[in-house]
Amino acid sequence: MRHEVLSEPNRLVIDLENTVFGGSSAQGSSRAIGPVAGWRAGLFLMGRSRIVLDLSRPVLVQRTDFVRQGPHVRLVIQLRAASAEEFSRRVEEDQRRRLASRVPEGRAVPRPAGAKPLVVLDPGHGGIDPGASGPKGEAEKEIVLAVARLVRKQLEADGRVEVQMTREDDRFISLAERVTFARNRSAALFVSLHADSLFGEADVRGASVYTLSDRASDAAAARAAEKENRADVAAGLDAPEDQREGVDDILFDLARRETRLFSQLAARGVAQSIQRAGRLHKTPLRSAGFRVLRAPDMPSILVELGYLSNVDDLQALMQEAGRQKLAQGLAAALLDFVLNNRIAISAKPLE
Ligand SMILES: [Zn+2]
Repeated sequence: MRHEVLSEPNRLVIDLENTVFGGSSAQGSSRAIGPVAGWRAGLFLMGRSRIVLDLSRPVLVQRTDFVRQGPHVRLVIQLRAASAEEFSRRVEEDQRRRLASRVPEGRAVPRPAGAKPLVVLDPGHGGIDPGASGPKGEAEKEIVLAVARLVRKQLEADGRVEVQMTREDDRFISLAERVTFARNRSAALFVSLHADSLFGEADVRGASVYTLSDRASDAAAARAAEKENRADVAAGLDAPEDQREGVDDILFDLARRETRLFSQLAARGVAQSIQRAGRLHKTPLRSAGFRVLRAPDMPSILVELGYLSNVDDLQALMQEAGRQKLAQGLAAALLDFVLNNRIAISAKPLE
């Protein structure tokens, strides 16, 4: 077992190797108890489970004990109050250790000549991070994985593109790892799949397609990005750790501008295609600062498939027929984009 603290916001992370939490035990709560404002637990990496405690005041671990109780093992963690200075000193120590053990980022491997263009599907959230949820606990992470599988099936049946997924099961993957996964494989298009929920706004419905922009297209888009960007924080990652902005260089800037144009083109195609399936948000094409769309050289879009807070959307997203319809619309648009813009994507910036 390992534990560490993080700041902004203050969290205590407990990692347990070779551990899977029991099936029916609670996976989190936002009820405040003492210095703990809320907590989540779940699978973090294969064979490693994680508990994240949100802290309302600085505390550190005093001692930990495993207590066997019949068939169960109880983990008892004693917390003690700490000063703000002591807490931030520990945050820095933990961060230094984490950075030292970091695996360096891979390099993009060009696709072999004659290879089919690659589409990377990125089902959002997973493991310890459930994403949005519906009124009966319907989980975004499960819905988007199911739809991604259907899209892959459609694309593979067509046979003209290759498909890979950033995750194929219920595991956590950081936002940066998702982007790196696709960039290292020189994907022609990166498609992140999500579903939103806006409780108190039950009439908001339909799919939206997002691209990256420095300034959000509207307040709701900004809110959506802020929510999706929180995934790493929810899973107990250090937010600034992978914040690596691009070089300030003119060629880089041109590449990035071209990538954004292609992303917008892909987004438009997807929105039109979903519209034919009949479930689009009233302003379906929007943009905001999604971290998962930040690759400077790979067209990237994020699709919010619908709202778990809307009765009609939820019904469509929970039923096989509704998922199929969405997947068909998506697959048709992705194929069209990747096959018809293939030469342009691999060309150098023209402007
Ligand atoms: Zn999401």
